[in-house]
Amino acid sequence: MKLRKKSKKRIWIPVLLLILFCGICAGRSKEQTADAPIKEQTQNVEVKTEAASDAESFPTVSVSETSETDVLSELAIHFIDVGQGDATLITCNNEAMLIDAGDNDQGTKIQNYLQKEGISELKYVICTHPDADHIGGMDVILYKFDCETIFMTEEAKDTATYRDVMDTMAKKGCKATLPVVGNKYALGDAEFTIIGPAEISDDSNNNSIAIILTHGQNRFVFTGDAEEEEEQALINSGIPLDADVYKVGHHGSRTSSSEDLLDAISPTYVVISCAEGNSYGHPHAETLNTLRAMDVMVFRTDEQGSIVVTDNGTELIWNCSPSDTWQAGEPTEPSATRSEDENKPTMSSATRSEGENTAVSSSMEAEESVVEMPDVEIPVEAPANVTYICNTNTGKFHYPNCSGVDQMKESNKLAVTTTRDEVIAQGYVPCKRCNP
Ligand SMILES: [Zn+2]
Ligand SMILES: [Zn+2]
Repeated sequence: MKLRKKSKKRIWIPVLLLILFCGICAGRSKEQTADAPIKEQTQNVEVKTEAASDAESFPTVSVSETSETDVLSELAIHFIDVGQGDATLITCNNEAMLIDAGDNDQGTKIQNYLQKEGISELKYVICTHPDADHIGGMDVILYKFDCETIFMTEEAKDTATYRDVMDTMAKKGCKATLPVVGNKYALGDAEFTIIGPAEISDDSNNNSIAIILTHGQNRFVFTGDAEEEEEQALINSGIPLDADVYKVGHHGSRTSSSEDLLDAISPTYVVISCAEGNSYGHPHAETLNTLRAMDVMVFRTDEQGSIVVTDNGTELIWNCSPSDTWQAGEPTEPSATRSEDENKPTMSSATRSEGENTAVSSSMEAEESVVEMPDVEIPVEAPANVTYICNTNTGKFHYPNCSGVDQMKESNKLAVTTTRDEVIAQGYVPCKRCNP
């Protein structure tokens, strides 16, 4: 008797049959009441198991609990702060993809970020274009993670950075997948469509792989460093570009984010990935002005560090408030080493200052500059041991009296007294304002 009861608990279908079949059970009210809850329990357990496996498949970054996620798993997009460059991690249902991997000194930082998120493999990797600020850290990522599909254009570049990536791919036996406009790929409950490059250009930035990612009601556009030429091609392709979030092309350069493209996307939110005090003056005032006029909410890695947005298919939740500084970047490198139009500061923002003091009079703009930062003595050779302030968030290091230090969050400051080489060996890059 005891045995029979036990086996009935394990296999409730025979129990049902028994209930249907015989009047035996009808007579045994005690057993019947015992059966009913078992049946219910079994059903409940089944439902719970489904819910539990859904919950387990959520990326660990989950910021908010919502009740509307019964259909879609949460999507998380991490605009990782890699200084001057791009690296975007996207996760959904335990699947992950990475768009670009910052500059050469950022590989390990991105590796750590991914590992902290519990990621061991990448379903997709997109190398938007072979510029160092996009594929610099990619050799580390390709080496450390199993990468299933690696998107690259056919454009090769005669740089050590590009060769490092190709060598690592060869070592790992990886093959590149060419982007085909219109092709769609699933990432968990999300899906992305290749939208560019729609035409081949002889300019690297304008060959950037561009995608639209969709998840429930939300859409996200990524265009790498595409400039006006590729933006026009994207518009001409006829693919609907409207989106909730636009990852601003080319770090907020005035050569990208044309009004035509912004009109086509009509974003609610934009994210700019660039370094504090970068030498190009990204984001440019023109870009910020256009975004401001469109009443767009702007997030920026130079001010806010890594930015994470989570999406349950309807609602977007950001890990920080939008920036309200509308502060354009300030070109900070000697103009001799800068390219074309990038060194022309725009004075539309009254509050901006110029970090041109290291340009030593070679810059025509120097005299219009309002130099905020203190005069910094730049030693020709760094003494053996110097105190530097490292920014644990941006990965840059400064002299203690650099204006960049004043703008730094206390929690990101790390004072070290050591040699310059040692700080660099630890993965930090010298600030371009104080040039330590
Ligand atoms: Zn580029
Ligand atoms: Zn770039």
